[in-house]
Amino acid sequence: MDMKKTKIVATISDWMCEPEYIKALFDQGMNVVRMNTAHITREGATKIMNNVRSVSDKIAILIDTKGPEVRTCNMEKEMNVTIGDKIKVTGDLSQTGCLHVNYVNFVNDIPVGSMLLIDDGEIELEVKDKDKIFLYTEVTNNGVIKNKKSINVPKVSIKLPSLTEKDKDFILFAIENKIEFIAHSFVRNKEDIFDIQRILDEHSSPIRIIAKIENQEGVDKIDEIIDHAYGIMIARGDLGIEVPAEKIPTLSRLLIKKCVEKAKPVIMATQMLHSMIEHPRPTRAEISDIASAVYNRCDAIMLSGETASGKYGVEAVTVMAKVALEVEKNKDRRNDIEPPINYDTSSFLASMAIKASSEMNTTAIVTDTLSGHNARHIAAFRGEMPVYAKCYRPRVMRELALSYGVFPSLIEPRKNRDKTIESALKSLVKNECISIDDQIVYVGSSYGIRGKASFLEIIDVKTGIKRKKEENLFGLISPMDM
Ligand code: PGA
Ligand code: MN
Repeated sequence: MDMKKTKIVATISDWMCEPEYIKALFDQGMNVVRMNTAHITREGATKIMNNVRSVSDKIAILIDTKGPEVRTCNMEKEMNVTIGDKIKVTGDLSQTGCLHVNYVNFVNDIPVGSMLLIDDGEIELEVKDKDKIFLYTEVTNNGVIKNKKSINVPKVSIKLPSLTEKDKDFILFAIENKIEFIAHSFVRNKEDIFDIQRILDEHSSPIRIIAKIENQEGVDKIDEIIDHAYGIMIARGDLGIEVPAEKIPTLSRLLIKKCVEKAKPVIMATQMLHSMIEHPRPTRAEISDIASAVYNRCDAIMLSGETASGKYGVEAVTVMAKVALEVEKNKDRRNDIEPPINYDTSSFLASMAIKASSEMNTTAIVTDTLSGHNARHIAAFRGEMPVYAKCYRPRVMRELALSYGVFPSLIEPRKNRDKTIESALKSLVKNECISIDDQIVYVGSSYGIRGKASFLEIIDVKTGIKRKKEENLFGLISPMDM
């Protein structure tokens, strides 16, 4: 049976997180649960986490920070606005008769001529003039301004610190609860990543950081961001407002290529099945959007409101999984992105494993992986065979829930290489991932002692499992006996 290789991240809210719901999403192909801290408290996050963990130890949890975002605040009632209305905007909350924002230096950062896009661009204000206290703006389209709505200012660098107090508290929550990933919003440069990494290091936490790319600054500094993050999320919601929306497809392809070349996981996010929040069937354009993420070689695709609050969350995951599987089967290998080898043994052996798996008569690639490094390098090639990653640590197993084509499970550390292969193959046969008559490609390191791959074998499963016995039978001396 073909198995979906593209991973699915689903956003879950605390008011729609019953274990039955999470199990249904998991059964349909969800691999990672995302919690958006912009909308939850510690209690809510605890509830989601406990429910996820009660369903499966394979589901990774990702906590999304708020990051340096500006929002409307302090509004007692909604404001109906029409074209031409004049509105004063300030971060000084002692002022009256104006629109308040939650960033005290807002007026200082925003030049005259800027556009303030409120609520994902629903309402646009043009900054006509300013003084020390106010931006003097004019409304350019009719609408309703509501409290706590996002404000994007394209092309303008906002000097807010990268972490809010709420973010810091959720980072501590993630550390205390051994969450797998923190996705940081509005990452502008490597320093924004270091701000989280420093806190993680103070607590010796191995949490992996995903950088959300959602403004021009993040795009401009993408190389240093990819180098310092575990992976990236193409956060098209904000990105599509901060940079011209028509640039998103080309930009996405570039970001994906850069991630694949560095063997870093890449998630495509936002509005992939937006219409399914309300409707049971997706639009044809949405199906094409999922397909293009897979054609472009993403590791993972993401659902937001569709699963967090939509009417058809389970159906949305089902649609994603079906479309991904169909496209994976039919994509053209000539469009693969070739990750460079760079004298790295893991990436070299990964490339050989892909070559062997496609040219020899094999059914799978098997690897034992201490840090996930080997498995991520194999995943970067987006091969046709499933990659069974045998992990020594539950955390690493869950981290691989974000890597294309990797099917992770646990293995006990063994004394030597033959025993490691034997136990890996036995458990895969037992779980019907491979059959005793198969031939597989095995990429291994020194049975969990070192991080990097050091050997590759093409093995008949039967021989791999019975190797020790046969060696005794023929009087051979295994290296471990010498
Ligand atoms: P958000 O991030 O849902 O936290 O805003 C995703 C995006 O902007 O696309
Ligand atoms: Mn966003």
